[in-house]
Amino acid sequence: MLPTIQAAHLIANRWVAPAGGATLPVLDPADGEIFAYIARGNAADIDAAVIAARAAYDGGDGPWGRVPAAERGRLLARLGQEIAANAEELALLECRDTGKPMKQARADAAACARYFEYYAGACDKLHGETLPYQRGYTVLTVREPHGVTGHIIPWNYPMQIFGRSAGAALAAGNACVVKPAEDACLSLLRIAELAVKYLPEGALNIVTGLGSEAGAALSAHTGIDHISFTGSPVTGSLVAQAAAVNHRPVTLELGGKSPQIVFADADLDAALPVLINAIIQNGGQTCSAGSRVLIEQSIYAPLMARLAEAFGRLRAGPGSADLDLGPLINARQRDRVAGYIAQGERDGLRVAARGTVSEGAASSGYYIAPTLFTDVPANHALAREEVFGPVLVAMPFADEAEALRLANGTDYGLIAGLWTRDGARQLRMARKLHAGQVFINNYGAGGGVELPFGGMKHSGYGREKGFEALLGFTALKTIAISHG
Ligand code: NAP
Ligand code: MG
Repeated sequence: MLPTIQAAHLIANRWVAPAGGATLPVLDPADGEIFAYIARGNAADIDAAVIAARAAYDGGDGPWGRVPAAERGRLLARLGQEIAANAEELALLECRDTGKPMKQARADAAACARYFEYYAGACDKLHGETLPYQRGYTVLTVREPHGVTGHIIPWNYPMQIFGRSAGAALAAGNACVVKPAEDACLSLLRIAELAVKYLPEGALNIVTGLGSEAGAALSAHTGIDHISFTGSPVTGSLVAQAAAVNHRPVTLELGGKSPQIVFADADLDAALPVLINAIIQNGGQTCSAGSRVLIEQSIYAPLMARLAEAFGRLRAGPGSADLDLGPLINARQRDRVAGYIAQGERDGLRVAARGTVSEGAASSGYYIAPTLFTDVPANHALAREEVFGPVLVAMPFADEAEALRLANGTDYGLIAGLWTRDGARQLRMARKLHAGQVFINNYGAGGGVELPFGGMKHSGYGREKGFEALLGFTALKTIAISHG
């Protein structure tokens, strides 16, 4: 059973009705039906949440700001355990809200709990240094929380991105204001409700609503000391520009067009399922999706034959049916992805294989059959732009130099997969790839929360995940003492 869904924000540990009195419908992507309502937050709601967060931090003297690091860790660890204990309910909520298959929703809930576990353990290990300096001085650095951090979360992995973003910010001692995506709020509202048991009021606040209203108000708010954003490059720029007016630092994670590069000497049996999962996971709505596969010419035809055979067997259906993929998040994204496929076909690109939408899926759901394009020219939109759906493009390469040119030949630089047994080539290529993460003979390494993650070029800047993220959620202060 789903928990009661409140059309309200969670501010200062209380449900708060939207200031403007307006709500937004929540649609089930599996059939397009309305099944709940959320609060439509505006600038006044963001203001209330920022005030609550500022009071919770209060320059280190508020009810959250003064909690010692070890105790902060204990509280966040308990919250992580609570999320794990409620994982099935959270997964059901996420499956209904976003359409993702239950196995993915369960993995997301587990990852969220793991982020809290990981960052809880790091709270009391985040420290400054003493620096060698001139005689007569002692110089030290301290890592202080920014104060109040803003978190704009997309709809593709709400729980995971909340965990890595707000989880790390809380661990560093910040109070948070979170704006989830209009299309995927429910799991985060429920987690905030669970957090009330552990965190003092104002430490974690959730304001729902539209990006153009609540999101824009959060980005421009002078009471926010740092903003972390995950989403599209266009919106990322808007957020960064708004924050720049107040000279606030921003972390941007903006997606990608990540390549998987397969050399003839690779273990193809190991690579094949990974190549497919990298684009099918979450229906291809993954910032780090492996959406391009570059294959060495000598194995192009046989590997494409195997890929096509496996791709043709993929099935989309309701999240509750737990097939290979669910519907896409909303009608706009479905139409956008369908538009890319139609453009490819119009331009004469060859479809090597197409999966199916299961017969049990409602025709009113936002489904797209997985599609594999072959021999896609490097300058085609399908090879350059983030489609954010179950669309894989394949292209051959002649040698290492061409593989690198193709891999680096988009505006993005998030992650890359490399399949080869040649150790020297592994390192040569890894050092030259434009990507924040390079995976060799795997893709994503199971998602490890410990592994710093973030992009280059239009994929954004700053790093999330791992210990590195904690550093980003602190301001370094240098203290120099003259003692003669
Ligand atoms: P988006 O506009 O970038 O949305 C991401 C987040 O930003 C959501 O919480 C959104 O809220 C919020 N937002 C929207 N406009 C805002 C504004 N002016 N100021 C502050 N926040 C704002 O992405 P989208 O329109 O949902 O999806 C479009 C494309 O973005 C996708 O096709 C995909 O290519 C990319 N995308 C990437 C990721 C990723 O993980 N890197 C995630 C999602 C989308 P609302 O949703 O409530 O408006
Ligand atoms: Mg929804």
